[in-house]
Amino acid sequence: MINLGQDEMAKYPFLADSGQYLKDKGFTLEQFGTDPDLKLIVDKAYHRIEAAAEGKIYRSDIDEHAKDAMLPREVFSFLLAVVLLKLSGMQTLIRRFSLAESRRAEKFLERDLSKFSEKNKEDLAIRILEDLFSIQVKKQNNYFVISVSDYLEHSISFHEREWKLVNRRVDAGLVFLTSHETVRLVRKELGSYINSKIQNANVPTMSDSFKEPVKRLESLAKKFPTIVVSSTEYPPCIKHAIEVLEKGENLPHSGRFMLGTYLLSKGQSVEQIAPLFKNAPDYNEKVTLYQLNHLAGSSGSGTKYICPSCEKLKSQDLCFIIPECDGIINPLQFGKKKIVNA
Ligand code: SF4
Repeated sequence: MINLGQDEMAKYPFLADSGQYLKDKGFTLEQFGTDPDLKLIVDKAYHRIEAAAEGKIYRSDIDEHAKDAMLPREVFSFLLAVVLLKLSGMQTLIRRFSLAESRRAEKFLERDLSKFSEKNKEDLAIRILEDLFSIQVKKQNNYFVISVSDYLEHSISFHEREWKLVNRRVDAGLVFLTSHETVRLVRKELGSYINSKIQNANVPTMSDSFKEPVKRLESLAKKFPTIVVSSTEYPPCIKHAIEVLEKGENLPHSGRFMLGTYLLSKGQSVEQIAPLFKNAPDYNEKVTLYQLNHLAGSSGSGTKYICPSCEKLKSQDLCFIIPECDGIINPLQFGKKKIVNA
């Protein structure tokens, strides 16, 4: 377990041993569940989950002059959010919360790596990468370098051209990365790490103060039904694009175009498709709806766009061909029976 100061604990609360932290601060979980004076912190925890569910990154409102009192509240709000999530059992909220918290931590990690002058912060970020994700990171001038094998292991699911090893600066078996790229490499794993911590936490006892927020969470979860497009009849390129979005990974513009045009051609409405993009790191509801309406031909020039051909998708690194793709030239043909000439 990495030893953290108060500031660092507020930035990376998922590293805290929750029981020990509460004990060190002189609290018990039962107090939060029954003491009306602590209700504000339970409310804060609820809002932290609500923000995550809506695809927002929770922002700490730390007043520099009252830091000592405020930092523990930040950690408490995370720990209590986990308690509320466990009590609600809502997997869709747990998944969204893990994603949002990983993005929040990602920002701090990147900032800490970039602060070259503040040696301790840089060290902590490097230690987190080493301890949690087994990546040995070293600094070389303005870059962070990792071994080619670490790079390949962690970039395996990245299909954009810039992540291909041939497009990277490699020297003496080391890959050169910016602070942003270094952190980007572990985005998925960071989300999975937080998710597994929540999954492995014990379900606490229900207390009076938790009942109402847990009920609200159950209603909130209904707003985010599980996406119903994981049908086996979708071709691998489309399945892959959906998986990328579900994990909160970035899908390139060409991939979004393919997914949008494919699903529209399959008869799905703009309103049905839009929620798929909610986990995208740069999600903006208005922009998403505008772009989908544009593809559907219901705005702009009125042109209805069609799904690109397999050949085009191959050239964009969006094709994940399987034997069932044999003989088709467009993903829209996937799963249709082939006509056999007699
Ligand atoms: S061959 Fe066509 S349908 Fe199959 S994965 Fe590639 S792009 Fe998709």
